[in-house]
Parts: sequence; C-alpha cells; structure tokens
Amino acid sequence: MKVDVLWNKSLEILSEEINTSSFKLLFKDIEPISLINNEMIISIKNSFKKDAVTKKFYDHISNAVSESFGSKINLKIIGPTANRNYNSSEKPKKDFHKYTFDNFIVGSSNELAFSASKQVADFDENDFNPLYIYSDVGLGKTHLLLSIHEHLSKNNKNSIYISSERFTNEYIKSIKERKTDEFRKKYRSCDALLIDDIQFLGGKTQTQEGFFHTFNDLFLKGRKIIIAGDDPLKLVDLESRLISRFQSGLVVDIQPPDFETKVAIIEHKLHLLNLSLSKEIIDYIANLCQVNIRQIESIVNRLKAMISLTNQEITINVAKSMIIGFDEIKIQNKPEPGAVIPAVSKALGVSEDEIKGKGRTENIVIARRLSSFILNKDLSLTTTASGSLLNKNHSSVINGVRFIEKELKSNFKIRHSLQLVRNSLKIN
Ligand code: ADP
Ligand code: MG
Repeated sequence: MKVDVLWNKSLEILSEEINTSSFKLLFKDIEPISLINNEMIISIKNSFKKDAVTKKFYDHISNAVSESFGSKINLKIIGPTANRNYNSSEKPKKDFHKYTFDNFIVGSSNELAFSASKQVADFDENDFNPLYIYSDVGLGKTHLLLSIHEHLSKNNKNSIYISSERFTNEYIKSIKERKTDEFRKKYRSCDALLIDDIQFLGGKTQTQEGFFHTFNDLFLKGRKIIIAGDDPLKLVDLESRLISRFQSGLVVDIQPPDFETKVAIIEHKLHLLNLSLSKEIIDYIANLCQVNIRQIESIVNRLKAMISLTNQEITINVAKSMIIGFDEIKIQNKPEPGAVIPAVSKALGVSEDEIKGKGRTENIVIARRLSSFILNKDLSLTTTASGSLLNKNHSSVINGVRFIEKELKSNFKIRHSLQLVRNSLKIN
C-alpha cells in the first residue's frame, strides 16, 4: 500500500475519534513520508505541534494506521530537524511515550495490577480470564493495557486494543453498512481483546449486546479478554450480566501512588527526558501531585520545556514559580455536599423539602436513599453528617445506603437514576 493512501484511510478513522478542533489544528499539516517494512514515518514541521501530537495522539495514530493497514505498523513521528533520509534499520531513539512494562514503575499501589498484567501477557493457558483492571483516571490502566498489547503483538499474537468508544463506533458503522459479519470476524478471531474505558458502554444497550456476544464467543474459545475501566461496582447503566461476567475472572485495582512511588515515577520520567532536578524539587512535585500520574508527567514535561527555553539554573524557587499556575495542579474536586440534594431533586422530580421531609411515597423514599448513598459513598461523608443534611438520623442513612447497594445489582431504574445524578454532579 502506498503511504498516502494509508495515511488518508487512517485520517478517516482519526477524524471520528479526535475532537474536531484538535483535529483541524493538529492534523492538517502532517505529511506522510514513508512506509517501509511495516514502519511508517510521518512528519510535522512545527515542533510544538509535533510534541502535542506525539504526546496526546501517538497511540490513536498508531492504532489507526495499524488498523487501516491490517497489521501492526511501527509509527515514527518526526519533527523539523529530523533527517528525512531516515534509515529504518537505524536503531530508533528511545520513544518517551511508549507504554511498556519497562516504563511502568511498580509500587504497592499498583503491584497487583502489574503482576496480573504480566501474567496475562505471557499467555499462560491456565490464567484467569477475563482480567479487569480498575482505578480512578490517570493511574496507569491504559499504560498496562498497551503494555500487554505490545508484549502480545511482539510474540505474534493477534491482539486487539480498542477503547469502548471506538468499539461502539465500529459496531454502529458495521450495522449501518451491513458489515456485521466482518465486524464479528475481526473481533472473534483475535487471541486477545483489550478493551479500555468500558464505562463508556454505559447506556448503549445495543452495543452492550454486541459486546456480550463477542465476550462469550472469545471466552468459550479460551481467548484472553482484558478490560479496564471504573470500579465495576460503580458501573451503573451497564447490564448486570456483563458486570457479572467481568467479575468472574480476576478483578484488580490500582490505587493512587504513595510518596515513594511518585518519586520513583518522577525520577524515571526525568531520566527518559535526560533531565536532572534536585531532590528537593522532586519531593516538591511528588507532594504537589495528589491526584494522578498524568499530572506528574505534564509538570515534568513543562519544566523540561521551560528549562530548555530559559537556560537558567533551576533552583527550588525557580521550579516553584514555573509550576505555579499550571492548571493540572487543581486538586480534583468532589462536589459540595450541599449540591447533592438539589441534584437528586432535579433528576428524580422530587422537591428538596420532600427529600428532607417525612413522606413515604416510593419516589420520595428512593430520592432520599439515593441522596444518602451519594453523600456517604461517593462523597465519603459520615452517616451522621449525611443524616444531618437530610434531616434524618444516621441509622436511616445506613439503611438507605444498604437498600441502594442491594438494588443496584438488579434494579435498572435505580442504576439509571444514580447515573443521572452522578453525571450532573460530575462524579467519576
Ligand atoms: P488511566 O488509563 O488509568 O487513566 P494512563 O495509563 O493513561 O491512566 O496513565 C496516565 C499517565 O501516567 C500515562 O502517561 C502513563 O504512562 C503514566 N503512568 C501511570 N502509571 C505509571 C507508572 N506506574 N509508571 C510510570 N508511568 C505511569
Ligand atoms: Mg485510560
């Protein structure tokens, strides 16, 4: 296949995946350069755009070109200074953005997920199946999935990595274009299916149905299924038969890293960037980043960029002044407890007074119990504090929480209501 043809096909996929403004801004100046021995080189003349594209979209592009080509393509993105007569047998420079096991720092917060991923990647027939990895955002799920994918592909396994959003788009497209056979063939013939951000299947009943059959088919054939997403207990709006399938294998979580792991991650990223910072600055960054590892990366990357621009000696004060104002430093906000009852009221059409009152009609009781559940479980308020907002005592909060926990297993309407409220409060 010619490189331009391949690139145009890939652009079609990418235009569906990437939001329109980023796509227009970043993708129009990309020039396909060569396609030799499954290695594709594309070039972006503007070095800022090149960095932005590499950082944010390397995997998107790499997956899209591999998919358009029909087998794995090794993608290189080159900038203005690169030598255009790039020789593909030359040892490529280390790719900073490569998601591999080697680049994954292991600490107590993620060691279980890491070792489970390694086991699956070694494709031991007796392994657990499926593997479900969950965590809050930015803690390494995608990194682990792509590491497994890379390892399997290197060992000539037919491994497919896809986000559930992409999966949905492809599924819908296959129905529209009457190509469901092709779709089925693609997803049912792989050795391993890695599906990321599964929570996006929430509410998409038809795609869930399609995924359910794919899952069963692969499962019965002993193929590996690896899923990443939110805590399975928080997956509302997803059919319970799917959730119970997910839970039938091994479920592992990744917790936020402790201080030492954060320091190790920062040191690793600095090493990849060829940058050294004092211990004091490293500790400062580690303390600052309370939310996730993506934050750490973006601070380190920006420090690197600023240091190379200013050429100045970097003391702790200079580092602090560089870091102040980064928008990544906002601590992830949980909604104010006071916002919960109004949100439940709006989503369920029950007034705030009714929620705080004594009425026992079904709707009101459910609204009250959902409020208890969100205050206590999502916002981690004590049962007493939750109760005082609701004008109830702590034992009625406990009962409410228990009731919702039980109903969530089978009651679709309550799942849906909970999802509505969580969406409006931007929880998850
Ligand atoms: P998630 O998919 O859970 O939202 P990602 O896998 O995208 O998170 O991780 C966010 C960023 O943090 C990625 O760039 C990833 O390489 C990095 N990262 C996460 N965990 C680790 C780790 N243990 N060691 C090194 N880098 C990590
Ligand atoms: Mg991810």
